[in-house]
Amino acid sequence: MITIEHLHKSFKDLEVLKGIDLTIAKGKTAVIIGPSGSGKTTLLRCLNLLETPDKGFLSIGDKKINFHEKNRLKLQEVMPIRRQTGMVFQGYNLFPHLTAMENIMEGQTTVLKRSKTEARQKALGLLEKVGLKDRGEMYPHQLSGGQQQRIGIARAMAMDPQVLLFDEPTSALDPELVGEVLKVMKDLANEGMTMVVVTHEMQFARDVADQVIFMDHGIVVEKGTPEEVFNHSDNPRLLQFLNKVNAR
Ligand code: ADP
Ligand code: MG
Repeated sequence: MITIEHLHKSFKDLEVLKGIDLTIAKGKTAVIIGPSGSGKTTLLRCLNLLETPDKGFLSIGDKKINFHEKNRLKLQEVMPIRRQTGMVFQGYNLFPHLTAMENIMEGQTTVLKRSKTEARQKALGLLEKVGLKDRGEMYPHQLSGGQQQRIGIARAMAMDPQVLLFDEPTSALDPELVGEVLKVMKDLANEGMTMVVVTHEMQFARDVADQVIFMDHGIVVEKGTPEEVFNHSDNPRLLQFLNKVNAR
């Protein structure tokens, strides 16, 4: 589903991604872990072309792009790739002046040109899926952080993406609200959604990930099953990180 080869990204003199190679199969969940500043967010943003990589190759679904430092991407190259992905952000990023329902309908009507009736139908199903069937008419400020984030997931799903990308979806939440969001994500994983999740929730990684990817200083230092990465690696950088987050 996703293939990344030799992907590089710099901001001015700072090389943030130093040649990333990854494959993520359809229906699988990849969890990316690693210290702050290691390039996890930049990698996710490169996957939906919110950042343009400098060099390397990316394919998502049946869309492929080769990046070269010299040629700038055209919008008609960017949009097909971006359409394959849905992004869930740490800070929810809901429109404050729209209800939960309207937030989930917005991209459907503006980008996908669905009718309001169709978009509403889809939104209703998704509200039910994330356990918020009776909250559609509420505004973001009337919802808890956990509820807002579940709306954020429903909004991403509404665009029928091939892949869902999550950037620390629970790190802004009070601890007692983390579980309800992780539960929704776990359900999606079990239903065969392809997901790339940046998180510090190590138990989620152990339970749900098909592949755990450890990044440090812009490279993939270790990748494998949760068992391999959490229990059988002897990589010193990984061990140091796991100790720090009390995951080992
Ligand atoms: P992580 O998500 O793992 O914490 P990031 O991908 O956010 O890491 O950042 C990696 C490095 O890239 C950091 O040093 C950060 O300051 C830098 N960086 C990220 N985005 C930008 C940007 N738009 N401009 C300049 N530097 C950036
Ligand atoms: Mg980040």
